[in-house]
Amino acid sequence: MPDCLFCKIVEGIIPSKKVYDDDYCYAFRDINPQAPTHILVIPKTHIPSFAELNGSTEALVGHMTSVIAKIARDEGLTGGYRVVSNCGDDAGQTVHHLHFHILGGKPMGDRMA
Ligand code: AMP
Ligand code: ZN
Repeated sequence: MPDCLFCKIVEGIIPSKKVYDDDYCYAFRDINPQAPTHILVIPKTHIPSFAELNGSTEALVGHMTSVIAKIARDEGLTGGYRVVSNCGDDAGQTVHHLHFHILGGKPMGDRMA
C-alpha cells in the first residue's frame, strides 16, 4: 500500500466522518471545510490524481459521478453545489489520491474552492 493519507482513511487506520461507502468509493467530510457542506469522494483504489484517468477507469469514475449526485441530493444541496478535483501542483493538489470535493450550502461566487 502506498504511504497515502486517503488510502489510510479507506482502510480505517485514520478516522474520518463517513458520508457514503460502497465497494468502489468512499465519501467523508473534509477536515477543513471551505463551505457549510464540504465532502470528499475518493476511489478505494489508489489513483494519484485526475491525470491518471483513462479508459480503464471510466466505469469507476462514471460510478463516482452518480455517487456525487446522490450525496448532493441526500445532503439537501437544493441551491446548487460545486464539484472540484484539484490535479497537480498548479491546481494546489495536496493529497495525491484522486478526490472530488463537493462544496455547497452557500453561494460561492467566483472562488473555485
Ligand atoms: P486538495 O488540496 O484538493 O488535495 O484537497 C485535499 C483536502 O483534504 C483538503 O481540503 C484537506 O482539508 C482535506 N484533508 C486533509 N486531511 C484530511 C483528513 N484527515 N480528513 C479529512 N479531510 C482531510
Ligand atoms: Zn491512496
